[in-house]
Amino acid sequence: MDTRAFKRSLHHSERYNRRGFGRAEEVAGSLEQAYQSELIQNIRENGYELREGRVTIRLAEAFGFCWGVERAVAIAYETRRHYPTERIWITNEIIHNPSVNAHLVEMNVLFIPVEEGVKDFSAVESGDVVILPAFGATVQEMQLLNERGCHIVDTTCPWVSKVWNSVERHKKNSFTSVIHGKVKHEETLATSSFAGTYLVVLDLEEAQLVCDYILGNGNREDFLKRFAGATSPGFDPDRDLVRIGVANQTTMLKRETEDIGRLFERTLLRRYGPAELNDHFLAFNTICDATQERQDAMFSLVDEPLDLMVVIGGYNSSNTTHLQEIAVSRGIPSVHIDAPERIGPGNVVEHKPLGQDLERLEPFLPEGDLRIGITSGASTPDRVVEGVIDRLLQLAEAGQIAAEIA
Ligand code: SF4
Repeated sequence: MDTRAFKRSLHHSERYNRRGFGRAEEVAGSLEQAYQSELIQNIRENGYELREGRVTIRLAEAFGFCWGVERAVAIAYETRRHYPTERIWITNEIIHNPSVNAHLVEMNVLFIPVEEGVKDFSAVESGDVVILPAFGATVQEMQLLNERGCHIVDTTCPWVSKVWNSVERHKKNSFTSVIHGKVKHEETLATSSFAGTYLVVLDLEEAQLVCDYILGNGNREDFLKRFAGATSPGFDPDRDLVRIGVANQTTMLKRETEDIGRLFERTLLRRYGPAELNDHFLAFNTICDATQERQDAMFSLVDEPLDLMVVIGGYNSSNTTHLQEIAVSRGIPSVHIDAPERIGPGNVVEHKPLGQDLERLEPFLPEGDLRIGITSGASTPDRVVEGVIDRLLQLAEAGQIAAEIA
């Protein structure tokens, strides 16, 4: 399929909208009530710090809803207003946050059902409205919805669209797109659907394997086995690793993406020499500012002495998981939770250790003075962060009273 031509024609369709409906003021009140927090605003204004009893809360200086997520959620709210009686679907969680998605369900926005990992669009009918989430949708999904006569409301973040433009450029110039991302993440699925020849690498270690292969130090069978499911159909490492452009899932760790880009550049320089480098490597610049800012703020926060780090965000949120990785890499005791309700009742937290299933931690808060760092992923509303802080303070106070009685 000529994905570029398809996108162009879709953008001109009367049934396609990617700018909202000019109802920002109408939905502002509902958004504020559902997602914003006076407490968080006060903490921001107080140098990102709150002291209460034995607890000092330190907030990261950049956290929570990014611009792209705010925009996507606002457009979804506008869509409900604009189509008050139509059936509205969303192809996936609009963002990876349970409370935001619960609000959409309350507004009678339906999620496309998923059967054994495959989306089932059979109930979607002509005239239905379908929202595409902030991290986009595959070109095949867009095509299906368009052919079915749906109204498509596209909230794909412009930063994600920028990556799609990069892989289109790779395809046009017969470069293979090496995508730094998670193979099954919706954004990477969408990006690879716009790419021609592609290979997804999860991290620097996988990128190194690919570069070793380029330099003649790999085994073809091992390579194909390792990257099975992470390449375009018919991928041939001997043919398809000659001209490379790097792209990224926008929420991956920025430094790792940059390291991967530099690694490929160095490798192709070694393989083909400086005079031919431009024929073999395409530089990129598609790292989202919001992800970068949140990661940098987290690096500053973990430089402070902290007794505990609480990372808040959906368990399937890539950028939240990366924030957790930073805390873990510094050896700071940390918990990743997706909602205030994970804390208590009692001195208990149900949290998700990095790369593991949910587990209960009891006792959660230690005795004595506590300095707790808090951050949240780009899809977490301030209201949720406020709920977590409330519970932490209640728990600390209850612990203090219990200690005094004892
Ligand atoms: S994290 Fe970045 S790419 Fe993702 S929605 Fe937010 S602004 Fe867009």
